Amino acid sequence: MQGFNKYYPPDYDGEKHKSLNAYRGKHALGDRARKLDQGILITRFELPFNIWCGTCDNHIGMGVRYNAEKKKIGMYYSTPMYSFRCKCHLCDGWFEIQTDPKNTRYVVVSGARQKDEEWNPEENGGFAIHDTEAAATSVDPLSALEKSTDAQNHLTKVQIPRLESLQGLSDHYNDDPYARSALVRKYFRTEKKIYAAKRAADDQIKEQYGLPETLKLLEDGAEARDEAREEWVKGRRELEAQTSIRRARLLSSAKPCPSTNNLSSLRARILDNTRRSSLLAKTTPPERKGIL
Ligand SMILES: [Zn+2]
Repeated sequence: MQGFNKYYPPDYDGEKHKSLNAYRGKHALGDRARKLDQGILITRFELPFNIWCGTCDNHIGMGVRYNAEKKKIGMYYSTPMYSFRCKCHLCDGWFEIQTDPKNTRYVVVSGARQKDEEWNPEENGGFAIHDTEAAATSVDPLSALEKSTDAQNHLTKVQIPRLESLQGLSDHYNDDPYARSALVRKYFRTEKKIYAAKRAADDQIKEQYGLPETLKLLEDGAEARDEAREEWVKGRRELEAQTSIRRARLLSSAKPCPSTNNLSSLRARILDNTRRSSLLAKTTPPERKGIL
C-alpha cells in the first residue's frame, strides 16, 4: 500500500527514508509498477477497434478495457512507439497491439485479428483523401526544368532582395541602440515640456472663464482662429437676421394711421405745448424763469 495519507510512523527517519513510499518499500504507482524493472507499466487500455481473439476466436468489441502491459518498443523520429499486451477476458490467450506513429493508428501485432472497418471513399464512389500515388509517378523532365527555373527566378528576384531589405532594416534599427535610445529620450523630454506648457495655458483659460476641467480646448493656431472668426461672423449674421424679422413683424402688427391725421395731431400737440409754455411764463415768478 502506498503512503496515501500523511501518517509518519515513529521509526520514520526523513534523512534515511526520504519518502513514505520508500519507507514502506513501495513505488508511487503501486502494483501497476510491479514489472517496471522489465520496462513494463500496467495501464488501462481501451480497444480502438473490433477484434477477434486468436486463441478462442471470440469477437471482442471496440471499447473493451484491459489492464495492459505498456512497453516502449522503439522510436519513430522523436515519437516513442508503445506496445500494449493484453490478456483476453474470455480465455487465457494474450494479444498485442502497437502504436504506429507513421500512420497515426494502432496495429494488431499478434494473438488477434483486427476487423477491417476503415471507410475507404475511393471504394465507395468517392475521391481518395490521400494522394499517395502522385509522388511515385514519373516526372516530366521539361516540367521539372520549368519548375526549377521558376523557383530559381523567385529566389533571385523576390526572396533574396526581400531578405536583404529586412537585413538592412534590422541593421538600421539595431546598429547603435544607445544612440537610438538617447535620441528618443531627448525627443520625449522636449515634447513633454511643450505638452506641460500647453496644459498650463489651457488650465489658466479654464480657470479664467470658469470652464469645466474636463472640457477639451482647441489647439491655438491660425486655423482655429479662422474657424472661430467664421463662427462668430455666422452667429452675428443670424442674430441680425432674427432681429430684423422681429422688427418687421412688430411694424406690420401696429395699426396704420392716415398721414393727414398724423399731421393734424402733431399740429395740435405743438399748439398745445406752445400754449402751455406761454401760460407757464406768465404765472412763473421771474426768479424761477432762469432755472426753467
Ligand atoms: Zn480469447
